[in-house]
Amino acid sequence: MGGMLYVVGTPIGNLGDLSPRAVETLRQADFIAAEDTRVSLKLLNRFEIKKPLVSYYEHNLRERGEYILSRLLAGETCAVVTDAGMPCISDPGEDLVRLCAEQGVPVAVVPGPSAAVSALALSGLSTSRFAFEGFLSTNKRNRLAHLEEIRSDRHTLIFYEAPHKLVSTLSDLLQALGNRRIALARELTKVHEEVIRTDLSGALAHFEQNTPKGEFVLIIEGAQPPEVQTYTVSEAAAIAKELAAGGLRLADACKQVAKQTGLKKGDIYKACQQEPAAEDPAGE
Ligand code: SAM
Repeated sequence: MGGMLYVVGTPIGNLGDLSPRAVETLRQADFIAAEDTRVSLKLLNRFEIKKPLVSYYEHNLRERGEYILSRLLAGETCAVVTDAGMPCISDPGEDLVRLCAEQGVPVAVVPGPSAAVSALALSGLSTSRFAFEGFLSTNKRNRLAHLEEIRSDRHTLIFYEAPHKLVSTLSDLLQALGNRRIALARELTKVHEEVIRTDLSGALAHFEQNTPKGEFVLIIEGAQPPEVQTYTVSEAAAIAKELAAGGLRLADACKQVAKQTGLKKGDIYKACQQEPAAEDPAGE
């Protein structure tokens, strides 16, 4: 019998959100790979689960990944958890899943809450299309390059941020994306859960006055579609006539304006011939 990896979601604040299936999976696993064993131990104690823990975090991913894989290949079952929410989402897990996939070890998910999707659901902003942008880089250049890349994205954007970086992040977001609607979801599922729905400049002003506390998810509306200018046939004819007055053949002028405006060349041409020449504005 081969082993199996379970990717198990854990609460993002409220322990009541640990699902019965997650409890069962943690109970049945041979061992648990945890981001911070002390954090996970608290959760396990609360549910009276006693299991060997293996630490698996950002800085030992490579070596621990190989070790966990070798145990899975030997037939053991492992549940991977992180400090909060879904593993693999701005958290360790992705590499382990990839290793298992490469080696033919089956992987199953036991879904739990994720701050990103929970905040999106509460935001009141469009949920039909969205992108998770994770944490912005602390390196100013990378951060601005990231924002530049997504500036004209039309879908809703989701960011994670730590409280002590919130004000500078809001300021960069405002500068790079312009003023847009934002929902800031704070301390989700905890006693001080709060959603502030405002715009980027309002959020910046608020948090310059009030020190941000707790964990935040930022949900920002996507870029507005560029304004498409529409022309009537008679406006298009006026432009064509101006071009013709400048020396272009009327037929060529109509063709050019048709391309610009999306109107039919023949309609513009007809209108040019029907409409009287523009009146002299001075009336002389
Ligand atoms: N894997 C987690 C998930 O699925 O949501 C995310 C882990 S990431 C290291 C931690 C970030 O998630 C925090 O800095 C914050 O932006 C967000 N976060 C986690 N718990 C939260 C909560 N209860 N309320 C608001 N944001 C939270």
